[in-house]
Amino acid sequence: MIDGHVTIVGAGIVGVSCALHLLKDGWKVRLIDEYPPGTQTSYGNAGAISPQSINPMSGPGVIKQIPKWLLDPLGPLAVRWGYLPKVAPWLIQFVRDGSASRITHQSEALAALHKPVIDGHEELAELANVKHLIQRQGWLSVYETDKAFAADSLARARMRSHGHEIHELNADEITQLEPGLSPIFKHATWAPNSGHTVNPGALTEAYAAQAIRMGCDFVSAKVLGFVLGPEGPTNIQTSIGEFNLDHLVIAAGAWSARLSKQLGDPFPLESERGYHMMLPTPGFTTRRPISFNERKFMTTTMEGGLRLAGTVEFAGLEAPPNWGRAEKLLTHAHQVFREVDVKGAARWMGQRPATPDSLPVISASAAQKKVFYAFGHGHLGLTGSAVTGQHIASLVSHRNATIDLKPFRIDRYR
Ligand SMILES: Cc1cc2nc3c(=O)[nH]c(=O)nc-3n(C[C@H](O)[C@H](O)[C@H](O)COP(=O)(O)OP(=O)(O)OC[C@H]3O[C@@H](n4cnc5c(N)ncnc54)[C@H](O)[C@@H]3O)c2cc1C
Repeated sequence: MIDGHVTIVGAGIVGVSCALHLLKDGWKVRLIDEYPPGTQTSYGNAGAISPQSINPMSGPGVIKQIPKWLLDPLGPLAVRWGYLPKVAPWLIQFVRDGSASRITHQSEALAALHKPVIDGHEELAELANVKHLIQRQGWLSVYETDKAFAADSLARARMRSHGHEIHELNADEITQLEPGLSPIFKHATWAPNSGHTVNPGALTEAYAAQAIRMGCDFVSAKVLGFVLGPEGPTNIQTSIGEFNLDHLVIAAGAWSARLSKQLGDPFPLESERGYHMMLPTPGFTTRRPISFNERKFMTTTMEGGLRLAGTVEFAGLEAPPNWGRAEKLLTHAHQVFREVDVKGAARWMGQRPATPDSLPVISASAAQKKVFYAFGHGHLGLTGSAVTGQHIASLVSHRNATIDLKPFRIDRYR
C-alpha cells in the first residue's frame, strides 16, 4: 500500500518519465520546474531512441583525438578557453574512464539499461495518446573514410555481442536507403531495430500533460535549496516559497549536481552544450536518424522539418551560446546532402548532462533517506528516460529493479 508523496525536480523527459511511472505505482506526485515541461535540453535533441547505443563516449584513443578536434574549425568539440581550468578535472576523469576495462564495464551497463528503451517509450506514448510520435525506422551511421569505419569495428562487435542487429552497407546500399545523401559515403552501419521520435519537445510535453491528468501537481518555480533534518530533507525551498517533502527525486538534467551537492551527494557532472538547426523546407525527407561519424553530428526528419543536431562545447551552464557552432551545422549539411534548402533555419542550444563514464545516475542518495537521483544521461537522455522512470519507481517503491543498478550509483566516484 503506497502512502506518501514524491516531489520531482525537473520536467525534462527524464523527470516526466519518472512522474508517469510513480503515478502508475500509486504515488502522489509533485513536479517542480522553473520552465514549462520539455522546454530545455529535451526540446531540441536529435530524436534517436537507440537501444544499440551502448558504446561510451570515451575510449582508449580519445586522448589523441581531442587536440585534432579542438584545432578543426568545423570540429565536433570546443572548449571555451576561460572554462578550461574548471572542466579539466572532468576531462581527466573522462580520459581515465576510457580504458579498455572501463569501457567493457560501461557498455555492459548501458546494454542492460537500453535493451527495452523503445518498448519503454511506446508504453508511455500510448498512455499519453501520442504513439504516432514514436517510430521504428532504424538508424544509419555513415562514414566517409575507410579509416574511421575500421576504427569503429570494436564498437560494432560490442553492439553485436549484446544481440543488436548491425549490418554493414556499401556506397550503393547507402544511396538506396537514403537517396538525399551526397555520394561521399563509403561505408555505413545500419541498425534496423532502432527508433526515434519525430518531435522530442511534443513528446515530453505530452508525457507531462498525461501526468497532470493522472493527478500530478505541476509547480512552476525554481528550486533553491533544502531544509535538512536528521531523517533527510524536510522542506524544499523555491522561488515561490517552501514546500514540505516526503520523497524527493532530482531529475534536473545538467543542473542536477548543484542540488545533489547541497544534499551531501557531490557528483562530477558537466554540461556538454550542443546545438541544432531546424530546416523547415529542406526539399527532401530522410526516413530515419542519420549519424555522420567523422563530423559527429546527426540529422533527423521531424514534424517541423529536417533537424541538424550535434557538436560538443564545454563552456559551463551560464555562458551565452556561440551561434557560430550552430552555423557550422549548415556548412556540414551542404556537404553531406546532394541538395538542401537551408532557408529559414532556426537555431537552438541545449545542455547535455554529461558524466565522465557516459553512465547516468539512477540511484538512491548515499547521504539522505528518501532522496533519489535520475540525471546525467548525456547524449542518450531521450533514449534512456522511459526506462529510468521505471527504475526510479522501483527504487522509491522498494521493489527489486529489473537490472543491476550498481553501475549507476551516485557515489561511484567517491
Ligand atoms: C544537440 C543534442 C542532440 C541530442 N540528441 C539526442 C538523441 O538523438 N537521442 C537521445 O537519446 N538523446 C539526445 N540528446 C540528449 C538528450 O536531449 C538529453 O540527455 C536529455 O534531454 C536530458 O533530459 P533531462 O530531463 O535530464 O534534462 P532537461 O531536459 O534539461 O530537463 C531538466 C529540467 O530541470 C529543470 N531544472 C534544473 N534546475 C532546476 C531548478 N533549480 N529548479 C527547477 N527546475 C530546474 C530545467 O528547467 C529543465 O526543465 C541530445 C542532446 C543535444 C544537446
